[in-house]
Formats: sequence, C-alpha cells, structure tokens
Amino acid sequence: MSDSHGMLKISIDVAACMGHGRCYTLADELFDSDAAGRSVILLAEVPAELRGQALLAAASCPERAIRVTACSATTASGSDGA
Ligand code: SF4
Repeated sequence: MSDSHGMLKISIDVAACMGHGRCYTLADELFDSDAAGRSVILLAEVPAELRGQALLAAASCPERAIRVTACSATTASGSDGA
C-alpha cells in the first residue's frame, strides 16, 4: 500500500507565544525554551514516535501558537492514467 504515514511538521507563531512553557514541558524532545522562556523548535519534522507529543503540545498551548501540519512527502508518482 502507499506510504500514508505522512510526517508531521510543527511551527510556532512566535508573536503569539507567551512562554507558558507547556510545550517544552510536555514534549521536551520537540521543543526547548529560549532565554526568555519562549518556545524553540528542536525538531521541525516530527518523527513518528513523537507524533503524540506534537499533538499534545499543540492542543495544550494556551495561545494556540503551535501549528501541526502534515508534511506531505513528494508523491509525484501518482499513476493518474490520463
Ligand atoms: S505552550 Fe505555547 S505559549 Fe507556551 S511556550 Fe509553548 S508555544 Fe509558547
């Protein structure tokens, strides 16, 4: 079957981040803090085993500053028989 286990990608709206620290507390393999306590992404492309952490962090951010998106692999080999 096809590889539909698309990797997730995380990004932070730095203007919205208020440094609550929930993300790097809950998902310390994905996020760290800068000197001001704001979030810094450690791994923008989330390994499969950390998907849960990424989603939990995004859901737990009070400012909704974390965006998790599907990182679509290059699927240029679609046999679309046209
Ligand atoms: S939980 Fe949200 S507001 Fe808090 S540090 Fe992380 S991204 Fe910033």
